[in-house]
Amino acid sequence: MASVDESDDATAGAASAAYTVLARRYRPQQFEECIGQEHVAHSLRNAIETGRVAHAYLFTGARGVGKTSMARIFAKALNCQQGPTTHPCGVCDICVSVAGGDDVDVIEIDGASNRGIEEVRELRQGVNYRPSRSRYKVYIIDEVHMLTREAFNALLKTLEEPPGHAKFLFATTEPQKIPITILSRCQRFDFSGIELGRIVDRLKAITESEGFSAEPEALEAIARRAGGSMRDSQSLLDQLLAFASGSLGVDDVHRVLGSAGEERVIALASAIFEGRTADALTQVTEAAETGIQLGEWAEQMLAYFRDLMAVSIAPDVQLVSMPNRMRPTMTEQATGASVEKILEMMDLVATCRARMKASTHERILWEMTIVRLCRLDHFLNLGTMMTSAPPMVSSAPSSAPKAKKKVDPGEPAAMSQPVVAPAPSAGAPPMARGQTPPPVGASKSPPQETPAVPSMELTPENVDQFWKVASGQLKDIVAVTALSNANRLELREPELIVFHFPGQFAASKKNCEDPARLARIETACSAVAGKSVRVRVELGAEDPNNTRIAKPGVYGKLRELAAKDPLVVRAQEILDAQLKSVESIRPASAERPSD
Ligand SMILES: [Zn+2]
Repeated sequence: MASVDESDDATAGAASAAYTVLARRYRPQQFEECIGQEHVAHSLRNAIETGRVAHAYLFTGARGVGKTSMARIFAKALNCQQGPTTHPCGVCDICVSVAGGDDVDVIEIDGASNRGIEEVRELRQGVNYRPSRSRYKVYIIDEVHMLTREAFNALLKTLEEPPGHAKFLFATTEPQKIPITILSRCQRFDFSGIELGRIVDRLKAITESEGFSAEPEALEAIARRAGGSMRDSQSLLDQLLAFASGSLGVDDVHRVLGSAGEERVIALASAIFEGRTADALTQVTEAAETGIQLGEWAEQMLAYFRDLMAVSIAPDVQLVSMPNRMRPTMTEQATGASVEKILEMMDLVATCRARMKASTHERILWEMTIVRLCRLDHFLNLGTMMTSAPPMVSSAPSSAPKAKKKVDPGEPAAMSQPVVAPAPSAGAPPMARGQTPPPVGASKSPPQETPAVPSMELTPENVDQFWKVASGQLKDIVAVTALSNANRLELREPELIVFHFPGQFAASKKNCEDPARLARIETACSAVAGKSVRVRVELGAEDPNNTRIAKPGVYGKLRELAAKDPLVVRAQEILDAQLKSVESIRPASAERPSD
């Protein structure tokens, strides 16, 4: 944090030698002024009052939420000439120099630029000398997670046996990178992100004290952009006050920050939901001409879709993208779309945003994404179509062209995105022009010739052969694949087959335990046996030899099953595709490959 302040000062210094940035001038100087971190301030004050100050503290939290400010206030409170006190006087030499960051006994170290073993060795030597004029020698190490492993090890030795006059205040944005040995020797305080309303209040006070006025929406837009960081919000305000003359309007904010106004965000969302692709693209052109940064706009859209998702799940949830007065508009938009659809939209925008950061073709990427968003229903419907469309060859020739039209061959890239999602539920029909798919079972399947079921007696001796025949009757690919991982079959009772799975195939066993799947397996076995057969699956010890009941050729069997699967057949028809390979679907697990 110290380094950020310094660079801010350098920039400001170029304009006016006397100017100090707002974030520094309005830095909190007392525990009571640490907005949003009252829980931390309370505990630290208590520690001082009761004389139970630990020798090491860790402050964690996002950037700009007041960790370094709190550390300095704590250092002043410990060392103030009137102290130790919960209200440092702020005027004694020590308070003044600590607040300025140049006290001899309060040593601020930026972990990012002093991360090596040498710096920590230096620190360890210095720790042993008594403070020159204060009660304590206070080390404030910012971004402490940046230290190297060797540096942490050296630091640990000091933390194990610290001299009584030394206090360590560590600050970090990434506590998970700090070794547990260090963590366990610190009192840890987690700083919260600061609520929008409290940032707005603070910005208002600063604006007034600087002799400016500002529209409430303008300050809200700044606070929203700062995302819970008080320092970021003040840096933005600084930038804007330099631009404004007397009063600050919300349009000024969007112009300077390159962000899109609320109307623009909502207008694009409307165009997307209503499938008005041409209108949406025109909006991009307009926005680019008015200087809106497309990456920023994409981020705003992502936050907006997040809010739509949130209001459709929990209506009272706090909005991050819009002021509360827009809630009715948002609720209206959210009720028109399924949560699944909104999630897909967020996915597309987030992917686009990541790609924009690494590309010089921001605009093209953003336009591609907007077109995809506008046509999302086409892709969402594909999933429904595959499961509910009537076979196109023999029974319903008239529906074929209509179904074909829904797939846009001009957007093959979108197919690689995970956009084929479960269809919107009946309660939330798709909003855009996408036609409603024909209802399930609307047309009857053509009568199919049912091949005769082979029959076979089931005995303890022939249970393996029996399963080979019975598995031919099982149309469940997942079941066939999973059962091929069993290593032994047993006819435990005249009507009970037990599949034994080796320990490493627990997931396959679990797959077969699905009641519907188990029922299908039993049906296949019963059909061949000519009587009711039950099936059970059991898990044994790990099998180092990896023995299987399935013989080579199971892949051919899978392929044969897949080629006959109605879903696969329809997908081939709709996409004009070939069956290239068949892979078994199994949950992610530690299983070895089945080949
Ligand atoms: Zn003082």
